[in-house]
Amino acid sequence: MDGKLAVIGLGSIGSMALWQASRLSDSVTGFEAASPAHGRSAVGGDTRLFRMLYRGVPELYPILERSRDLWAELEAETGQSILTRCGGLSIGTKDGPYIPVLLETARANGAEHEILSREEMAERYPQHNLRADDVAVYDPHAGALRTDRAVTAAVAAAEANGATVHSNTPIDSITETADGVVITSGEKSWTFESVIISSGGWSQRLMPDYLKAATQTKRVFLTWFVAKNGAEFTSENFPVFIRISGDRSMYGAPAVDGVTVKATLDGRGGPTPDADAVPRELTPAEITETIETVTEFFPGLFPNIVRSDAFPDLFTTDGHPLLGRVKEGSRIYCATGFSGGGFKNATGFGEIAAHEALGKRSFDGLAFVRPQRFKTS
Ligand SMILES: Cc1cc2nc3c(=O)[nH]c(=O)nc-3n(C[C@H](O)[C@H](O)[C@H](O)COP(=O)(O)OP(=O)(O)OC[C@H]3O[C@@H](n4cnc5c(N)ncnc54)[C@H](O)[C@@H]3O)c2cc1C
Repeated sequence: MDGKLAVIGLGSIGSMALWQASRLSDSVTGFEAASPAHGRSAVGGDTRLFRMLYRGVPELYPILERSRDLWAELEAETGQSILTRCGGLSIGTKDGPYIPVLLETARANGAEHEILSREEMAERYPQHNLRADDVAVYDPHAGALRTDRAVTAAVAAAEANGATVHSNTPIDSITETADGVVITSGEKSWTFESVIISSGGWSQRLMPDYLKAATQTKRVFLTWFVAKNGAEFTSENFPVFIRISGDRSMYGAPAVDGVTVKATLDGRGGPTPDADAVPRELTPAEITETIETVTEFFPGLFPNIVRSDAFPDLFTTDGHPLLGRVKEGSRIYCATGFSGGGFKNATGFGEIAAHEALGKRSFDGLAFVRPQRFKTS
């Protein structure tokens, strides 16, 4: 036996699972096909939005609260600044499909929020050009997560706690036996008591058939712009935002590099057959819609895309993650399928995965993320 737990894939979630597992056991090992936080994974693109206001299942809210605490713990433990607490804005048509449901979820969760009229927005956040029937909701706990720093910090914290890390070691196969789980990389093999699959857009290669059928790797792109007046788009003056106004939608973050403002079409993920070969160039249609949207929403940005990129993420057919054992009693645990929204909760999901895979504790109220919801027989 080579150890208690192997974490396969040290990206957004695997790094956090390894960090948490290293607090629980002195016998955990991480395997990463490239290097942790590499730029072609779902860690790429500098930042991810953290926000407590969303539309969706209320069971997610306690995980968000826990994740927020754990981001602060990771910062305290490593001395790294990871979450820029700049607040967040959800903007949309007053009676449209977005804002009323978001408010309903916020009230059900008891989430702190402040409704801002179009006039109040013009005073506080004039960067946003609202439509006549738009309204905004301010989330005081939202912010921008610095992804590369977060993942690097979590892996370093895990190593400081005694975890072993094998970079440039892609795992090719996982076989469960009576004694444990055998994993291989080329000619090498190891046996662990349990494994966590956290290989993001590459996970299908290692997952059982019923989960391959319930998932798809998708390409998600990002675009950045330069401000006419940079001071208006710093994290002091410009919260992260998501906006769905009529037929247009966009989300983004302040200029964390001091120059480029992230402003990206919301919810655009197209299937991609190979996570290693995600097309990085935007299509003419993507460019046109992005520029038209920025021109309407942000008169203070030059409407030229100065930077763009695209990354893989694994999407499930119902849009909820895969967090749990692949079958009852199995030693193989899945922590993947975060469907374009997993980073904000990476610390919370990582903690759940570490505790459950090591058999330390199980969590209730998570039926919506359990892999076995996709089992047909
Ligand atoms: C462009 C974009 C914007 C997004 N915006 C947001 C946002 O604003 N807020 C938010 O909360 N979420 C957002 N998301 C979603 C979030 O980033 C992802 O859900 C999350 O990062 C997925 O993490 P992961 O650990 O599953 O995958 P990854 O971070 O991609 O990690 C997978 C790792 O596994 C490794 N690996 C793969 N195969 C193997 C193998 N066989 N052996 C060993 N290692 C392997 C890879 O090299 C990689 O390092 C966004 C996603 C994208 C792509």
